[in-house]
Amino acid sequence: MQITFLGTGAATAVPLPFCSCPTCRAARVQVGKDLRTRSALLINDDLLIDCGADAVSSAHRLGRDLTRVRTLLVTHAHGDHFDSGHLVTRMPEYGCADTPPLLIAASGASLIRLGQWLEGEESGTDLTTPSGREKLNLTVHEVQVGTPFSAGKYTVTGIYSHHAPDCDSRMYLISDGQTAIFYGVDSPAFGEDVWQALEQTGTQFACVILDHTYGLMPETGYPTDHMNARDVAEAAARLRAQGLLTPRGHVFATHLSHENMLPHEEMSAFARAHGYEIAFDGLTLTL
Ligand SMILES: [Zn+2]
Ligand SMILES: [Zn+2]
Ligand SMILES: [Zn+2]
Repeated sequence: MQITFLGTGAATAVPLPFCSCPTCRAARVQVGKDLRTRSALLINDDLLIDCGADAVSSAHRLGRDLTRVRTLLVTHAHGDHFDSGHLVTRMPEYGCADTPPLLIAASGASLIRLGQWLEGEESGTDLTTPSGREKLNLTVHEVQVGTPFSAGKYTVTGIYSHHAPDCDSRMYLISDGQTAIFYGVDSPAFGEDVWQALEQTGTQFACVILDHTYGLMPETGYPTDHMNARDVAEAAARLRAQGLLTPRGHVFATHLSHENMLPHEEMSAFARAHGYEIAFDGLTLTL
C-alpha cells in the first residue's frame, strides 16, 4: 500500500494568509516542509480521504492523477475536509469527460451537510437525492460506526470521533487485506471507547495517522476538540504497548496548525524523541 499526504495542515493551513505570528513568518521564509495545505491523504491513487480546497492543486503539484480515485472517504463536514466546488465539476454542464463513478462515504449527518453545500453551489446536485447522485455520477455510503464495508479492493471501517458531534465525525481503518492503516483525523485525545473500538477490530496497523492541531500547547487553557503533541506522544506509546502497531509500524502526525508549532525539522526532532513522526505535504510511504 502506498500513501501520500496531499496536505498536512489544519483548517487554517500554514502560513495563515493574514497572520504574522512567528510560525507563519518563519514558514514564509523557509517554505518547503514548513508550508502546509489542508489535510488529505491519497491511498494508491484510487482512494482519497477528504477533499478540501487544497487537495486538487496539491495532487497536481505532486504529479498525482485524481481521475483514478474511485472512493472518497469524508471524515466530517468541515470546510477544510470537503470543498463542494471540486465535486460539482463532475456534472455534465462542466463538460467533464470520461468520468468514472465515485463512491462517497461519510456519516449520515455529514452526508446531509455535504449535500446542502453541493446544492448551494449548483442546484440539483444534493447527493442525498437520487437525481443529485445521478447528476454527479456517484454513489453514497452512510458509514455506520464499527461496521466494515467494501470500497473497491479495500475494506473500510468507520470509528466514531468525538470531534464535531454535530457532524457525527468518523475516523477510518483501511485495509487492502495485507496492510492496514488508521486515519485518526480530526479527533481529540482518544477516549476509552475509541481504544476499545480499535482493540475490537483485531488489527495491527502499519501506520496510524493522528491529529496534531495544537502542537506544543501548554498544559491548560486550550480547547480539546483536537489533539496536541502531548496527546499524540501518549497515543503512540499506548498503540505500541497494546500491540496495535506492526513491529515496524509508524505513527505520523498530520493536521498541524500554526499554534504552538516549531519549524518542521525541530518539530520532527521533538516527535522522534517522543515515539512518532511529523508528516509533511508530499510525503509518500510504501507500507
Ligand atoms: Zn480539520
Ligand atoms: Zn500564524
Ligand atoms: Zn473539523
